[in-house]
Amino acid sequence: MNWYEAELIGQKAESPTVRRFWFKLKTEEPLPYRAGQFLTFDLPTGEKRKDRWRSYSIANDFDGSNLIELCISYLKGGLASEYFFETINKGDLVKCKGPEGAFTLPDARDQALVLICTGTGIVPFRAMMQDLEKNGNLPPSVHLIFGARKTKDILYHEEIMDWASYVPGFKASICLSRETKIPGNLKNLEYLSGYVHQAYLHSPAPAGNPLYMICGWTQVIDEVVANLVTKMGVGRSQIRFELFG
Ligand SMILES: Cc1cc2nc3c(=O)[nH]c(=O)nc-3n(C[C@H](O)[C@H](O)[C@H](O)COP(=O)(O)OP(=O)(O)OC[C@H]3O[C@@H](n4cnc5c(N)ncnc54)[C@H](O)[C@@H]3O)c2cc1C
Repeated sequence: MNWYEAELIGQKAESPTVRRFWFKLKTEEPLPYRAGQFLTFDLPTGEKRKDRWRSYSIANDFDGSNLIELCISYLKGGLASEYFFETINKGDLVKCKGPEGAFTLPDARDQALVLICTGTGIVPFRAMMQDLEKNGNLPPSVHLIFGARKTKDILYHEEIMDWASYVPGFKASICLSRETKIPGNLKNLEYLSGYVHQAYLHSPAPAGNPLYMICGWTQVIDEVVANLVTKMGVGRSQIRFELFG
């Protein structure tokens, strides 16, 4: 697989602990990819591969340009976290390769989708929602279940509100585990106190053969998969996940 150079062209805080980064890929032709895929970066953060290579889901859908958005959470002491939050500057070049990954929307759009994530686990789903919005080839329903600690930690909050308003069949449940003031519900958008599990365990399963897509860190994914299989009788073939680590 080829390595490319990517130039940082901008960044912006998305929450107190998460930043969005925009890179321009320095390739002659735009690099096509599918919503949900990721790139692997070789960062100047050490000598060994384990200290240098980090993968990040692409947060935007391919639009024919070479502009890539990443959305990265800060982990204190993390090598890549420190690099992205403390070191990198506009105009800096980093090496990356890809796209890779099979965590993408199914080609047939006849299955209802339940998208479950916490924190930056929403990133591949954000690209998928852009794809669905743009191409209009919508599944029967999409239920996004997103977990964060507090209201200020909700990522892509305005976009979630937009999807709830305008995308037919879309609804979202935002689960806040440490918020004292839970926001009021909006049309197709509910705010719950607690963890993501209550949202799928207590919602009626979509009709037919829904596909459950889960993204984030091992602990959450393991718990969600176990609950889906043992408590809801969901078949393994109805579950796809992307593990961040
Ligand atoms: C396919 C794929 C896509 C990914 N996409 C994203 C993305 O879109 N956004 C994003 O922020 N990260 C994403 N990651 C995670 C990313 O690759 C790094 O692991 C993350 O940025 C931490 O790297 P670091 O060098 O800062 O920390 P390290 O120095 O690698 O971290 C030290 C330790 O902390 C653990 N750890 C790191 N972060 C967390 C966390 N948030 N919660 C719990 N434990 C943690 C690690 O497993 C490790 O044991 C993705 C990972 C994969 C495999």
